[in-house]
Amino acid sequence: MKIPYCKQLCFAAVALVSAISVHAQEKVLNLYSARHYQTDDQLYSNFTKQTGIKINRIEADDNQLLTRLKTEGKNSPADVILMVDAARLWRAQIDGLFQPVKSSVLNSRIPANLRGKDDGKGAEWFGFSTRARIIVYDKATVKPEDVSTYESLADPKNSGKVCTRSGSHPYMLSMIGAMIERNGEQATEDWAKGVVANFARPPRGGDTDQIKGVASGECRVALANSYYYVRMLRSTKPEDKEAMSKVGFIWPNQKTSGAHINISGGGVAKNAPNRDSAVKFLEYLASDEAQAYFANGNNEWPAVASASVKNPTLDSLGKFKMENISIATIGKNQIAAQKILDRVGYK
Ligand code: FE
Repeated sequence: MKIPYCKQLCFAAVALVSAISVHAQEKVLNLYSARHYQTDDQLYSNFTKQTGIKINRIEADDNQLLTRLKTEGKNSPADVILMVDAARLWRAQIDGLFQPVKSSVLNSRIPANLRGKDDGKGAEWFGFSTRARIIVYDKATVKPEDVSTYESLADPKNSGKVCTRSGSHPYMLSMIGAMIERNGEQATEDWAKGVVANFARPPRGGDTDQIKGVASGECRVALANSYYYVRMLRSTKPEDKEAMSKVGFIWPNQKTSGAHINISGGGVAKNAPNRDSAVKFLEYLASDEAQAYFANGNNEWPAVASASVKNPTLDSLGKFKMENISIATIGKNQIAAQKILDRVGYK
């Protein structure tokens, strides 16, 4: 008698355990992220608390993630892909790594110019935070009015003064892509030629290296994303404080097109096994609470206008006029931008 009874009970127990594990399997989200900020931990654990969906994170830089996703193909476990810069989001879109998402929450909260192209099936990616490309200059030797626009960096009066990172970096390709949209290909090529002629040194390093280059006097004027500037301002290292005392910054093109804006954002992976959870996660990222964590983690601005971020250093930069070109268009122009750079020898 004892054995069958136990059998029954055991079968029931096994059935229950497998039901729980099937249920648990549904409540998982595989996140491929090129972001690596500590505040993101809070972001993800809040999502799990609110929804019961556990997040498995794969973190790598944008190029590694793109390669991995392409290699995995249809078998990729990725549900959500987060990347930085419109050029990379556009590249992932062209490579067919996203699927369109129709969400009234995302459409009402994320401005249309910060979303991927929508052919009626929904956008393939959404921007969740914004950054500006600013001009940094040496306060001792440069008059701000001589370097107040991106175009001015090609002016012969700035000969021997200009530093940038590699022209082929996505941040530069996006900026030049926006310039093509504004000024046309020929004017942009003339500009790129002028910048090359004005270089203080051949392009090298990242944006922080350009800021330090200005501080050291090797460069007089440079380009950098706003969050690198804010990060340096917030640094407690004496050498960073010293460097930042020597440089000033400019919101470029305030009398004309506005400062070039880029995004950090993401979308639902093409073959997402947990599509519903993925959409839920993107909608969560557009909430006021998540927006504050997402943007502040990297000293950026939230994409959602109603979200507020407590970041006095970022606030101290003040308000400025933003460029109003669709991020999708900027991404699309990066090939033309690269061709121009190749023709003028902008490495
Ligand atoms: Fe960056």
